[in-house]
Amino acid sequence: MPASTESIRNIGIVAHIDAGKTTTTERILYYAGASHKMGQVDEGTTQTDFDPEEAKRGITIYSAAVTCHWKDCTINIIDTPGHVDFTAEVQRSLRVLDGAVVVFSAVEGVEAQSETVWRQADEFRVPRLCFVNKMDRIGADFDRTLGQVRDRLKGNPVVLTIPIGAGHEFKGIIDLLQMKALYFDRETMGREIEVTDIPEDMRETAARWRSKLLDSVSMLDDEVMTAYLEGEEVTAEQIHRVLRAGTLARELQPTFCGSSLDYCGVQPVLDAVNNYLPSPLDVPPVEGINPSPKKGEDEHAIRKVDKNEPFAGLIFKIAADKHADMCFVRVYSGVLKSGSRALNPRTGKKELISQIWHIQAGHREKIETDAVDAGGIAGVIGPKQVVTGDTLCDQKHPIILESINFPETVISMAVEPDSSADRKKLEDALLQLSKQDPTFKAKVSDETGQTIISGMGELHLEVLRERLQRDFNLNVKVHKPRVSYRETVQKPVESDGEFSRTTAGESQFASVRIRVEPFEAERGVEVTSELTPGDLPKEQIRIVL
Ligand code: GDP
Repeated sequence: MPASTESIRNIGIVAHIDAGKTTTTERILYYAGASHKMGQVDEGTTQTDFDPEEAKRGITIYSAAVTCHWKDCTINIIDTPGHVDFTAEVQRSLRVLDGAVVVFSAVEGVEAQSETVWRQADEFRVPRLCFVNKMDRIGADFDRTLGQVRDRLKGNPVVLTIPIGAGHEFKGIIDLLQMKALYFDRETMGREIEVTDIPEDMRETAARWRSKLLDSVSMLDDEVMTAYLEGEEVTAEQIHRVLRAGTLARELQPTFCGSSLDYCGVQPVLDAVNNYLPSPLDVPPVEGINPSPKKGEDEHAIRKVDKNEPFAGLIFKIAADKHADMCFVRVYSGVLKSGSRALNPRTGKKELISQIWHIQAGHREKIETDAVDAGGIAGVIGPKQVVTGDTLCDQKHPIILESINFPETVISMAVEPDSSADRKKLEDALLQLSKQDPTFKAKVSDETGQTIISGMGELHLEVLRERLQRDFNLNVKVHKPRVSYRETVQKPVESDGEFSRTTAGESQFASVRIRVEPFEAERGVEVTSELTPGDLPKEQIRIVL
């Protein structure tokens, strides 16, 4: 039975690398029934890290969208990579999800990448929960991590579970809503939970944290404030209501602690996903522009797309399945139906929606479905001429949803097949990879004939090189590119530091701010100088990246 939109949660789990995002996701998928065997990151057997590259590296590179069920909700988890080289991937995922769980390590606290993803979540207005993980490790400090969330991230963590002990002494958690101690049974991988009275030596601490919780909640709600001041009991329902409103308004982050490795503390986070994170009905409508405006209409006019309008969805990832490409689509309005044709307004082509799948994490298990309503996320097989960021929509109602802006690539290198007979194969493979990963670019230099690949960082290019080997059976040598970027300046413009350019082969005009170096290829002499637009030579220049 399809999930009602109100019960859908499209969430991401974001973190600095190594904070425990993959392990936490794994536990969530286990408890939420999607996977029957629990994977272990260290053994390279987790469910979301199905790419052998990822298993090998122990980091999650390509996001996968998986579906699981917890109590009354269907949770679509869009897995997000944690490494800095893949921030564009994180950004792409944040664009289509409605809420996030931010995982911190209680030992390392707030780290560089936690700041980046927090900022990005702010930018995309994503409500979030916090999970302070690794409470079992020596040096774990819940309070210090909370302090860093406040100081460095300017967050407002409202604590709902506190640890009983830390490091080797970490035993369980106290649930401040129930005011009970929770001990998770390792034998059943945390499925069985013993709920007891709060131990004697923790009662005072727990009471203090409960008062802090009530302080935070009453500040946000007059009714609770009155009840609290008059010494009446504040009910769990009242707290839920205020926390939900505060989370959706991004005024606070319900915060939990535990150790996902030790199977401790994850289920309360799942309850909070259901209780506090938004359903697709709680988020504002997506915006888009009409690609074929009528005469007199503004071609850039932004229109809000209501969920009841004809079908429109955004492709946020393309993954190579064994047999075909699978496009991951977030449906924003109408219904996506299998067997239908949808328009890609960028190309003007109609694309066949042959099959629609929900991806269950276990073994990439898939469940086929006929239709996905607005708010849902699904894998689609059929579309041919699509790239990540494309809109698919009803043929009679063309719209381009706000596309995803990908940052410029920052590093380039030259690649060459081991055997020159493989040149065509390399070209095809690079085309395929750039379709799947819009932060990756490949082109042949007109000047040197070298094939240049560009990406978001060294690790990014390294991973792509390994994928060439694994997925396409192509061994390549890599070099420093002889010319990283070169173009012909055609017509300097007046404004400070900008000029128009034509890039070889594409008649595309753009303004760029650059420093130029006159370049003499034959003699290998490069002279660097800062030139103002008026000085720009009309010959070839080399652009310093
Ligand atoms: P990710 O990079 O954020 O996805 O982190 P992983 O889930 O891959 O975890 C990184 C490492 O930390 C792995 O060796 C995990 O076994 C370990 N780890 C994850 N969660 C915990 C935890 O709660 N306690 C301890 N001690 N180790 C953990």
